Amino acid sequence: MRARDAKAAAGAGGAWTTQPFAARAVAFLLALLALAGPLAAAEAAKPIKAYDYKMAGDASRVRLVLQLDGEPQPRWFQLRAPHRLVIDLPGTRLAIDPAEATPRGLVSGVHYGKLDDSDSRIVIASKGPFLVEGVDVQANEASPGYRMIVDLVASTEKAFQAALADQMATTGSTQSTPKGDRVVHSGAAEAPKPFTIVIDPGHGGIDSGAEGVSGTLEKTVTLSFARELKARLEQGGRFVVHLTRDNDVFLRLDERVRVARQYGANLFISIHADTIRYPAIRGATVYTVSDQASDAESAAVAARENLSDELAGMSIEDANHEVSDILMDLVRRETHTFSIRFARTLVDALSNSMELIKNPHRHAGFRVLKAPDVPSVLVELGYLSNAQDETLLKDEAWRAKAVGDVAAAIETFAGARLGSGK
Ligand SMILES: [Zn+2]
Repeated sequence: MRARDAKAAAGAGGAWTTQPFAARAVAFLLALLALAGPLAAAEAAKPIKAYDYKMAGDASRVRLVLQLDGEPQPRWFQLRAPHRLVIDLPGTRLAIDPAEATPRGLVSGVHYGKLDDSDSRIVIASKGPFLVEGVDVQANEASPGYRMIVDLVASTEKAFQAALADQMATTGSTQSTPKGDRVVHSGAAEAPKPFTIVIDPGHGGIDSGAEGVSGTLEKTVTLSFARELKARLEQGGRFVVHLTRDNDVFLRLDERVRVARQYGANLFISIHADTIRYPAIRGATVYTVSDQASDAESAAVAARENLSDELAGMSIEDANHEVSDILMDLVRRETHTFSIRFARTLVDALSNSMELIKNPHRHAGFRVLKAPDVPSVLVELGYLSNAQDETLLKDEAWRAKAVGDVAAAIETFAGARLGSGK
């Protein structure tokens, strides 16, 4: 604003010195007018230009950044069926390169255009429920203009509905919402949500994972184990259990995290079976997430497991860039404490019937464990590179015992969480 006014004033001053008196008087009046109502005059005449649309993130979290040559006053609201975020930008003209607005991660579609003669609208469609962490406008530090930053995170349907209800209560922003989309506060007391577990059978589809000495594929072992664990946990009727995949399909690591968040999981367990170049090494390991690996071997395990995303053609930028750092920052302390507590409970339970490696609770930078609000562990059930472990992993009786141990650990953990009201 200030730069533009200064330029206008300079222009008027320049005209003054070269024009005859009448023209100078008119110029003087115009200059006065410009000084009296600079905002109204300039704003009405010149819409804000929005350009350089950027989106970064993955299936559980996306950040959108839009550059603007003036300060925007965005208004936004959510819509459901499908889940969408609508951002209206009054007095703004969009100059977005369609190639930049390609959907990615949590975002399944980006639509934008003129709302009327002066205002524009951007509609972001999401893969399932999400929460708006922020719609912020900041002045650029190193260049003129402003940027609008929008942060979306995958969340539960319940949280999405609550945000919708909130939006209506506080802003009454329902005019644009089709009738069928409207939600009202029921006022009824809600039943407590059952303890929800998401079991993640590692790998799948083109990503077979590790391969055993006699050809057993990790993706097959993990799916069998996960299905059996789900069945076991559902027997008691106390738990709601979901699998991230229930067949031989490929699933990116961030998609697995998204599933856990959108089900509002109280616990996420990723099931794996490792391989190592020393055939004598065997036994199970339980991992929690950390940006510093507990030891070199754990760092190597995390690197191997994280390779899965490269099969999805994720660029190095996505894998290593700041989004991962943001995710890491968001692995909140409390969630992390619960992850560690469950890992210890699980190690105890497994030691009843299983061979464990030395220091069986380890930590490293596993991408699949980065849900900020879901306690998460990754279990390597054993080594497919060890003939004995491979035989056991394929053995139904052994699996039943191991499944029983994991289920017992979950019951202990869930009992403590429910008991404490958390
Ligand atoms: Zn694996």
